[in-house]
Amino acid sequence: MYFCSRNMENNNTSKMGIGGLLRRLLPFVTPYRWLLVATLTLTFLGSLMAQVNAVVLDRAVDRINALLHLDGGFQWAEAARILVIISAVLLGKEVLAALVTFGQRIFGEKIRINVSRDLSLRVVDRILTFRMAFFSRDGNEPGKLQTRIDRGIMSLSNTVKNFFIDILPLFTSAVLALVLMYAANVYVGLVATAIIPVYFWITTVQGRRMKGWRHRVFGTHQQLSHGILNIIESMGVIKSFNRERVEADKQAALQEQSTDQQMQTRRISFLYEGLKTFVEQIGTVLIIILTAYLVLVNYPGMSIGKIMYHVMLFANVSAPIRQLHRIYDDLNDALVYAEGFFGLLDADAEVEKSGEWKVESGERVQGRFELRNVEFTYPSGTHALRDLTMTIEPGRTTALVGLSGAGKSTIVNLLDKFYAPDSGSITLDGVPLGEWDTQVLRDNIGLVLQKNHIFSGTIEENIRYGRPDATRDEVIEAARKAYIYDQVMALPDGFDSNATQLSGGQQQRIAIARMFLKDPPIIFLDEPTASLDAIATEQIKNSIDAIKQGRTVIVISHNIGQIIDSDCLYVLDTGHCVQHGTPQEVYRQGGLYKEIFDASARSMNVDKIADTLA
Ligand code: ADP
Repeated sequence: MYFCSRNMENNNTSKMGIGGLLRRLLPFVTPYRWLLVATLTLTFLGSLMAQVNAVVLDRAVDRINALLHLDGGFQWAEAARILVIISAVLLGKEVLAALVTFGQRIFGEKIRINVSRDLSLRVVDRILTFRMAFFSRDGNEPGKLQTRIDRGIMSLSNTVKNFFIDILPLFTSAVLALVLMYAANVYVGLVATAIIPVYFWITTVQGRRMKGWRHRVFGTHQQLSHGILNIIESMGVIKSFNRERVEADKQAALQEQSTDQQMQTRRISFLYEGLKTFVEQIGTVLIIILTAYLVLVNYPGMSIGKIMYHVMLFANVSAPIRQLHRIYDDLNDALVYAEGFFGLLDADAEVEKSGEWKVESGERVQGRFELRNVEFTYPSGTHALRDLTMTIEPGRTTALVGLSGAGKSTIVNLLDKFYAPDSGSITLDGVPLGEWDTQVLRDNIGLVLQKNHIFSGTIEENIRYGRPDATRDEVIEAARKAYIYDQVMALPDGFDSNATQLSGGQQQRIAIARMFLKDPPIIFLDEPTASLDAIATEQIKNSIDAIKQGRTVIVISHNIGQIIDSDCLYVLDTGHCVQHGTPQEVYRQGGLYKEIFDASARSMNVDKIADTLA
């Protein structure tokens, strides 16, 4: 998807043509084909009715004219008859036209809204299948992704409306009006037709000039919404460093750029609009002059009423063509946004790969992970793991130790199949990880991170996320085991309280309760107590000790107390394993572990703690 956002910002030519765009949209429209047929039928009726005014006026003017020049003098009865007929026809037509337009709009909107919903459902379904690497790539940040999706859906559903609802009525009306003009007089028809290519030409030049600007406006828009999201997410840091001004200036610069770009597009747009109106007026003047001339020279079939008739028909020809630029603009927008949007739907390479391997029902996953010569680089280019070889023994607790950035969390990311290694092999119970059914694998793994994401919703809903079919009693039991039950009950709404209002430590215990409910044979704990106070840390240590029994556990921690409890530990340095063995053995070896251990003991002031406790 990286390529998509790049294209949008730097590339001025879309690869997808209008034909391609419509082809991609068609499958989304076909489910509503009957609605479409109804809309188009109403459209055709509407186009027919649009010509009624011209025909009625043509006849009326000639009749009234004849009445004025009648030899026997003016006849009031005949005049009244003409007026009643005109009024009845015009009023009747207006009532019918209002009904037809209403039906056409309602049906059209129904198609647009339904297509918009389907596009949105499809893209969400799709994104949920993507592997983690997709989301950590440049250009796929939340704000940018959101803009790409929002804009895509909006402009694609507009295209549906434009093409199927707007263009067709306009053009049927234009074609009908043109046919009537030719039928009345070929020369007048030719003058009206001659204007059309000029219009098309101006619209095409306008479109070409606007295209580059549209790409730029879109790029800036993406940056703006990403920037605002970033500000909201980092509010605490911004305020604590008094960087409000800096952030506001960054946004101001972007807004300035956006304003310039928008003004530039408007300037181009207004210039060409003016040109088109001018051409249209010239067309109208030519038609008036030509028809007046034909009437004056007594050309067969020409009467004074024809001047009005031709001008009104020409208005029906030019009105839709005048709309052409808007539709052309929208289509060009849609081409830009469609590329990003369909890029998401097409990104098969981003879909998480799943193998077929499943455990037999009743059989339990053991949890023996073997990593052999694993190399891994993040999409951003960070070479996080180098020639890593290690074995995680089933039913035991293995600690991963190392300085920050050594690659400990990356190992967990790989074992959970969030990412795939560049080379080397990883097996679980002897089966390569790639061959495991991803869902089965993750059903068997419980993951507790330093910051566990709590969804907006009640505490009960959040715990139940671990196993949606759990009973309320099971949820309560899990909360008890995670030492959070009493605190939840102390809240006014108990388990129905909003989970996002809990403190970091409480949220952590909700996540642990969630894992108790899931009850997986393999558990990854990535600094689960890093943000907790001492009492909470001890309580969580107790609950983790309870859950560890008979399971394969990998714990990443800077807390020496948790590390020395492990059966085995691996020491990592810049993505490479430098030591391993039991905590005592590795300590005796000296090296990095001893350095970390001693520094940790010193930082805890162990001597004074011992004195205090004595
Ligand atoms: P640790 O858990 O030991 O602190 P990590 O495994 O988180 O270390 O990180 C190892 C290296 O990979 C670091 O240099 C870090 O910056 C980088 N890294 C971690 N996560 C990502 C990511 N999602 N995208 C790009 N680089 C990452």
